[in-house]
Amino acid sequence: MRVLLPIPLDGAGGGAYDYRVPVGTPLPEPGSFVAVPLGGRELLGVVWDGEPDAGLAEGRLRDILGVLPAPPMRESLRRFVEWVSAYTLAPPGAVLRMAMSVPAALEPAGQQAGWKLSAAGELAQGGAPGYRLTPQRRRVLDVMEPGEPRAGADIADEAEVSTGVLRGLADQGLIEPALLPRPRSFARPDPDHPGPSLAEEQETAAAGLRASVATRAFGVTLLAGVTGSGKTEVYLDAVAECLRQGRQALVLLPEIALSSQWLDRFKERFGCAPAIWHSELSGRLRRATWRAVADGEAPVLVGARSALFLPFPDLGLIIVDEEHETAFKQEDGVIYHARDMAVVRARMAGATCVLVSATPSLETLTNAEQGRYAAQNLPRRHGSAGLPEVTVLDLRKVPPERGRFISPPLIEAITETLARGEQAMLFLNRRGYAPMTLCRACGHRIRCPNCTAWLVEHRAQRRLQCHHCGHAEPIPPHCPECGAEGSLTAIGPGVERVQEEASVLFPDARRLVMASDTIPGPAAAAEAARMIQDREVDLLIGTQIVAKGWHFAHLTLVGVVDADLGLAGGDLRAAERTVQLLHQVSGRAGRAESPGRVLLQSWNPDHPVMQALVSGNLEAFMAEEAEARRPGGWPPFGRLAALIVSSEDERAADRVARDLGLAAPGGEGVQVLGPAPAPLSMLRGRHRRRLLLKARRDVAVQPLLREWLSRVEVPNAVRVQVDVDPVSF
Ligand code: ADP
Ligand code: ZN
Repeated sequence: MRVLLPIPLDGAGGGAYDYRVPVGTPLPEPGSFVAVPLGGRELLGVVWDGEPDAGLAEGRLRDILGVLPAPPMRESLRRFVEWVSAYTLAPPGAVLRMAMSVPAALEPAGQQAGWKLSAAGELAQGGAPGYRLTPQRRRVLDVMEPGEPRAGADIADEAEVSTGVLRGLADQGLIEPALLPRPRSFARPDPDHPGPSLAEEQETAAAGLRASVATRAFGVTLLAGVTGSGKTEVYLDAVAECLRQGRQALVLLPEIALSSQWLDRFKERFGCAPAIWHSELSGRLRRATWRAVADGEAPVLVGARSALFLPFPDLGLIIVDEEHETAFKQEDGVIYHARDMAVVRARMAGATCVLVSATPSLETLTNAEQGRYAAQNLPRRHGSAGLPEVTVLDLRKVPPERGRFISPPLIEAITETLARGEQAMLFLNRRGYAPMTLCRACGHRIRCPNCTAWLVEHRAQRRLQCHHCGHAEPIPPHCPECGAEGSLTAIGPGVERVQEEASVLFPDARRLVMASDTIPGPAAAAEAARMIQDREVDLLIGTQIVAKGWHFAHLTLVGVVDADLGLAGGDLRAAERTVQLLHQVSGRAGRAESPGRVLLQSWNPDHPVMQALVSGNLEAFMAEEAEARRPGGWPPFGRLAALIVSSEDERAADRVARDLGLAAPGGEGVQVLGPAPAPLSMLRGRHRRRLLLKARRDVAVQPLLREWLSRVEVPNAVRVQVDVDPVSF
């Protein structure tokens, strides 16, 4: 019997092994979860289709250890795992691992034993004297709540200790065994809960989506519409239709941690919250959610990209909100784009897939134009709100004061806005205080020891940080190169610095900085959103986390501190991405009664990106983008795959890159560019080289890639990653 194990093994089997079913055990059906021995370990795997390897004598096979009492993995998910593996060239076992992210969910669903604090434990937790606690035991007590039993594995996980520490605490009499309550069941959203009545254009779009869901067959629709046009209400209506059909719906959001407002709207529409899936879920909730999805008890799930690999038995609808977002691309491990894989998953499930955006990607627009996707469009904002007026501030003509970053006209606009009692927002897509530290004496710039990147000053923490590898060091007292005292200078702004400037310019405004440093999780994000909505904030200063999704009714001015920021570098997609991001940010202004205004500070006011944002004619901009890419056969008019060669040993990386270059495939409609230094030529201490394979659309690139890779020997010290459809090129 073939069993696929969730391990990332390259090579022929890709994680599939053959086992024997002991005499007397009924043959488990394909998809069953089984425990098997591998080497000295015991692993969980999935019974896979296909015959065992004929070369292996039956007698030499090892027995499976047992079949788990869990719903077998459905055929549609098994085919999806295989498809993703074949498309991305990741080993099937690596993809299966994503679909088995909670093997412990396969425990029998009955009541389980856990631990709770004893009476003495509660005293010790409260700091009562007389209890001797190691730091590890202290941490365990700190993560426990009086009267709330928890699973041992969860406690150990959260306190970062081994389960042995729990036994020690039990011996000490501070915790005691307790039965865990059954996992909380998931509420059933009510499709007939009264929702808002849709405006005419919304209703047309919604009817299209409902009709597609009602076919119970595969189809993709692009739901485009300006910011604030009410796309969410429209697709929630499709979710309701899916529920009426008795099937499950999946909503993918790019930043689930920042989606408190979205969840509120869902609750308003359906009377209860959906199931949620993301990487930060606690172990127990994670297992309960996985199980509820598998048992069909979670009719609607909203999640991050990894939710695509959950075991939905009957998926009828997948929504990809903000489909253009690069957050949907997973860049390590299995490299895949969740938007594209959502379409595939929908096809295998016989489901409708809806791609939602105010600024659809060129890929999706092209698919819609060529008739592969249906399209619905909402051209106007909901209610009386109009689109904000966008103006470029030419920094050559109205420069900020020396050492400042907010120009006089922007200062004036903010002052006026605040005087009217409205809210303003300053947007800068850069965390920290300054992106670079320069020595004025010798010209030295402080770079990351592990990456081709400058260290970013985080003044509040008095540290320099690398935003790529996480390296951090204290701000040095003098130049590390020439030793000069007091010569180090912060160059350029980050949001912290903009906040510092704003505190001088608008001392009376109540300011809030929203960046991942100040908003560490969903609770903080929800609280920030509440404060803004309740007008406890006058001036919001933020990175890209303020750009998308939010609806702040009193926010009428958006100032973009550096509109040129995304345009540097050689990436062919830089313009498209900058337009998308700045359009999203602009879309935060004037969403209710009062009209909105957007000011873009730029040194390149004539750049097509600025012109597109000013005119609001994104269609024309995207059409020009398309025309720029078509002749060269760049995506979406051709196929692209990147090979990233990396090693700590620079010469080894170069050698493999050169060999790959020499072994490059050729032929009709195929071209290989490189090797060349990858966009980050050094990352986490590894030297990186890149080769790009460009092919006509009718060329299947996977067989070419496979053949190509098989022709080059790669030593252990070198890694070659395959990135099919890279997002930057
Ligand atoms: P989008 O997702 O297109 O940016 P939203 O769905 O966030 O737009 O809608 C913008 C605002 O308009 C939200 O506050 C939403 O609650 C409101 N809205 C949208 N459609 C309706 C409707 N049919 N009735 C009442 N309010 C609506
Ligand atoms: Zn680094």
